[in-house]
Amino acid sequence: MRIAIAKEIEVGERRVALVPDTVGRLVKQGLDVCVEAGAGERSYFSDAAYEAAGATVIQDSAQLWQEADVMLKVNPPRDRHDGQSEVSLLRPGSTLICFLNPLGDPALVQRLAEQQVTAFSMELIPRTSRAQSMDALSSQAGVAGYKAALIAAAALPKFFPMLTTAAGTIPPAKVFIMGAGVAGLQAIATCRRLGAVVEAFDIRPAVKEEVQSLGAKFVEVALDEDTVAAGGYAKEISEAAKERSRQVITEHVRHADAVITTAQVPGRTAPILVTEEMVAQMKPGAVIVDLAAEQGGNCACTEPGKDVVKNGVTIIGTINLPATMPVHASQMYSKNISTLLNLLVKDGALNLNFADDIITSACITSAGEIRNQRVKDALAALVGVGN
Ligand code: NAD
Repeated sequence: MRIAIAKEIEVGERRVALVPDTVGRLVKQGLDVCVEAGAGERSYFSDAAYEAAGATVIQDSAQLWQEADVMLKVNPPRDRHDGQSEVSLLRPGSTLICFLNPLGDPALVQRLAEQQVTAFSMELIPRTSRAQSMDALSSQAGVAGYKAALIAAAALPKFFPMLTTAAGTIPPAKVFIMGAGVAGLQAIATCRRLGAVVEAFDIRPAVKEEVQSLGAKFVEVALDEDTVAAGGYAKEISEAAKERSRQVITEHVRHADAVITTAQVPGRTAPILVTEEMVAQMKPGAVIVDLAAEQGGNCACTEPGKDVVKNGVTIIGTINLPATMPVHASQMYSKNISTLLNLLVKDGALNLNFADDIITSACITSAGEIRNQRVKDALAALVGVGN
């Protein structure tokens, strides 16, 4: 069975799906691994390193795609610069494993089903203890949270830590973090290591202890409604609850030197937590780093991929932060993918046991069918809009 690693074509993407170290382990298990020439270049993994690990380097990209039994990628398949689409290059009967954004792009899922490709969406790996080492959403969110804290510290015209110097005493920066999921918790930990005083807010009350255990203060808002959906994710809260939380967080935003927002509700645009009025009340020189920029942003002033300055406050609309740390982001993603492969491959062939909750949840197309009801509903809604 031939496992292939494609070179990513998304603008700004620097990660690669498998790193040489992981390739070496798969080759030892008897798998045939091929890598597109230059696939690891932007994450500093050379073709020579892949070859030394036992992979075959393929120069002809179309050949790699057509000969793959299992194609591994980071980003969803796209149209290439040579006019060919990566979906149409996939051989019917082959398998694709990558981030697919299935609810955001259900039409792509349909094309994969029509192409008779068995597709696995890394976003749909269940967030369970058993699947933890395959959880690429978590591994990449951790990278993003770390980097967001560094961006905030670098953009702030002040120190993060308290300093006692001969030239006077500098008080520590105050950082307010909204959304204490995987990215938010890593941002809290990183800001704390840099010496800032950190407060955090989340609508899921269960995160209070995790926030406190990292040395941050948890900002509580009594919402009087159920905020947690299946799988431990946040639910979209009512307008009244949003208003109540805004009333509480306004004060914390006003006093913060840096605000890092990470709030998301799966399958929905990100909630607006920081309004224009709140930005207008912030200190000049303050910084907002919006990790939800690609999902619409948690700040009303955010523009994805841009730094916007409003009343002396810099709002940074970050995009794809994991790609800015490609060495470790790729290493972690590679571990996630190879653990999933170990579950899927038996005796050198794919063995899809749909009784397994990880396989049934992450496998989104098989035998020409879309397997996920939410994607089918999203597709039906899309067709409805088109009519
Ligand atoms: P996410 O990226 O979907 O959201 C980030 C955070 O935003 C969440 O903590 C969410 O509660 C918060 N949020 C949503 N709306 C908000 C609002 N209006 N105001 C403030 N905060 C808001 O979440 P994630 O980081 O991918 O993970 C969320 C949860 O999934 C985890 O905390 C956990 O319960 C579960 N999880 C479990 C495992 C595991 O068991 N292996 C692994 C990862 C995640």
